[in-house]
Amino acid sequence: MFKKAAWEQYEAADRESLNAFAEDYKAFLSAGKTERECVTEAVKAAKAAGFADLREVIREGRKLSAGDRVYSAWMGKDFMAFIIGNQSLEKGMNILGAHIDSPRIDVKQNPLYEDEGIAYFDTHYYGGIKKYQWVALPLALHGVIVRRDGTKVTLAIGENPDDPVFYISDLLIHLAQDQMGKTAKDVVEGEALNVIVGSEPLKGEEKEAVKKAVLALLKERYDIEEEDLLSAELELVPAGAARDLGFDRALIAGYGHDDRVCAYPSMRAVLDFEGTPEYTACAILTDKEEIGSVGATGMASHFFENTCAELYNACSEAYCELGLRRMLRESRMLSSDVSAGFDPNFAGVFEKKNAAIVGRGVCFNKFTGSRGKGGSNDANAEFMAEVRRVMDENQVDFQTAELGKVDVGGGGTIAYLCSKYGMNCIDAGIAVLSMHAPWEIISKADLWEAYKCYLAFLRDCKAPAD
Ligand code: MN
Ligand code: MN
Repeated sequence: MFKKAAWEQYEAADRESLNAFAEDYKAFLSAGKTERECVTEAVKAAKAAGFADLREVIREGRKLSAGDRVYSAWMGKDFMAFIIGNQSLEKGMNILGAHIDSPRIDVKQNPLYEDEGIAYFDTHYYGGIKKYQWVALPLALHGVIVRRDGTKVTLAIGENPDDPVFYISDLLIHLAQDQMGKTAKDVVEGEALNVIVGSEPLKGEEKEAVKKAVLALLKERYDIEEEDLLSAELELVPAGAARDLGFDRALIAGYGHDDRVCAYPSMRAVLDFEGTPEYTACAILTDKEEIGSVGATGMASHFFENTCAELYNACSEAYCELGLRRMLRESRMLSSDVSAGFDPNFAGVFEKKNAAIVGRGVCFNKFTGSRGKGGSNDANAEFMAEVRRVMDENQVDFQTAELGKVDVGGGGTIAYLCSKYGMNCIDAGIAVLSMHAPWEIISKADLWEAYKCYLAFLRDCKAPAD
């Protein structure tokens, strides 16, 4: 089944909308370099779009009805937005889900030390990375430091052109004979990802003078003691903004496309939705996908179900456990996560007919998983048919794909966690080149088709025939 590039269908007006959306996305990507920052941006956008905080609704004991718009943030790392539909909640929701955590280098709890005149932070990387890709490039430090009294310092250092950056050094080629013979997995070891944070000694000090100077700066600028780093979440990410790529500017190079390139249009589709949808519309931006959706903010936790229970309660005369279960079971979901874009430089790991091609539209994966579909959510053919109908009727360019050749590898998403409720769920997403590298690549056309796909899904997707 040959597919033309999505670009072929665009007229001048489409290109204008596509480019404007891409600019908005780049701004989101550059401002949201951590899950917390993405939630901050999402809350800002939700408020601007007239969405009410579900906590306020609960506090005031207000009831919600069709057309009402609410959002909910959880621990500053998860975000959900809802538009109450015309149908009762027990008919299910149309849900868009994506994750906002991305692979990165986390700072350890006891990080600061000095070695031969250089001060370092010790780190523990987060998610699946090729460690050798994260050395010898400028890094920015983002996150929070929470003092014992609960007050919080929020940091983002390294993004403004005037800011300093941080850096993990690599071995010079001249002395790398042994290193170059190692397998890529061992070229740079996890424990060697030590980040340079300072090198000027504190005048008059003899022992650990550089470390002391760094601590003095932290005290002076942020009123932070060394012990406050015990209760900090600091993330090192590639420094700098997302950029257009290529003479034609058709691609975007940015940090964290996985999975903010799905999270952003998912969020926008709900916030931009005009009028009242037939079924309640929902966007979930979740955390911790890259390490297995664990923890209180991962999709495996109950934050989503709890929020749905609150929503159900706010929409009904009386709370009903069975009603909530029906609401979840009857829902339909696009679990959106990036797909491995076919890379001609590494053609051997893909099966071309079933690979996601950059620029050919939003990508559906009936299943993910690896080696015999292990760990996969396998979407029902009936649901897939309904999704196809919605895409075709709304002129959305889409393709279907698997993540690489059958026995080569694979990966998972949040789909299997949502389908636990019995809801229809399919993986949908955007092709990415250099996935999990510090700078990843996506096509503006795919971003635009994903946004069109999400809007159409919220508006038109119905329960598939049994
Ligand atoms: Mn992902
Ligand atoms: Mn990933």
